[in-house]
Amino acid sequence: MTARLIEGNAVAEAIRNELRKRISDLSAEGIRPGLAVIMVGDDPGSAVYVRMKEKESTELGILSRTIKLPADTPESKLLELIDELNADPKIHGLLVQMPVPKHIDPEKVIMRISPEKDVDGFHPVNVGKMLIGDRTGFLSCTPHGIQVMMERSGIETAGRHVVICGRSNIVGKPMAALLMQKGKGADATVTVCHSKTKDMPSFTRQADILIVAMGSPQFIKEDMVKDGAVVIDVGMNRVPDAAAKKGYRLVGDVDFEAVSRKASAITPVPGGVGLMTRVLLMENTVKAAEKTKKR
Ligand code: NAP
Repeated sequence: MTARLIEGNAVAEAIRNELRKRISDLSAEGIRPGLAVIMVGDDPGSAVYVRMKEKESTELGILSRTIKLPADTPESKLLELIDELNADPKIHGLLVQMPVPKHIDPEKVIMRISPEKDVDGFHPVNVGKMLIGDRTGFLSCTPHGIQVMMERSGIETAGRHVVICGRSNIVGKPMAALLMQKGKGADATVTVCHSKTKDMPSFTRQADILIVAMGSPQFIKEDMVKDGAVVIDVGMNRVPDAAAKKGYRLVGDVDFEAVSRKASAITPVPGGVGLMTRVLLMENTVKAAEKTKKR
């Protein structure tokens, strides 16, 4: 079998078109969605993500404010800035790019962002809403992006066994919570694997849909995947490559070449889940702006 490629781009572009319409409707009412991104320090990986978010916002006509703070910024200063942006009516969505430097407590940062502006969907209020199936809050962008990508690519989840490798708060756990809900794009039977799972391949081989978010380059091999499975690769790993212009290339957590011979559908890296994450962040920002209209 040769897997069908599930490309993030086509789905992301369809969502962008829907967002353009919603943004123009808001504009008719004098509202321009605004997204503020705070970055502390100069981690090169984070800088790339922040630039991409800025570009995506600007292209859609969303007001983009990127605030770069030095790595030694005291935690109290960052929290003050969050308070200011929480109170700024031009800013509808607010996020702090993770990871933050070690002297800053990421939990405190997440707790300080108003749940009404938490477009990353990391605040416990939004996480709690997602867990009980209340979609009025903000869903975490990567798992929600994966759910939307599967729905729009005709991948049925109802009654299927989804195995998720990874249990982080930003991917694995919310992914499991979304897919176990009742309703469209969900109704799956979910298994979550992690570093303490005994004999992980015995679980991955049972997956109708395998979602991998481990941060371990090309960890999932052909013999760990069932014939005809759908494989969603969340991993984004930089591996050294002397032939590449930047000296590295991006690979996922799945051995793409080998696994695509066995899977029925697979996402590429880059060009898969990452694009969905960004566009869903834009969707959350537009949703946040629309909510202010209803208040
Ligand atoms: P993370 O916080 O490091 O979590 C990794 C998870 O994988 C943990 O639950 C860990 O288990 C598990 N794991 C790691 N090695 C394992 C092994 N050998 N066997 C079994 N389980 C193992 O990572 P993350 O933030 O979820 O990110 C995962 C990957 O997705 C990274 O490559 C990241 O760059 C990428 N990512 C991509 C996007 C996107 O938009 N495309 C968004 C977010 C993340 P324990 O919990 O037991 O330690």
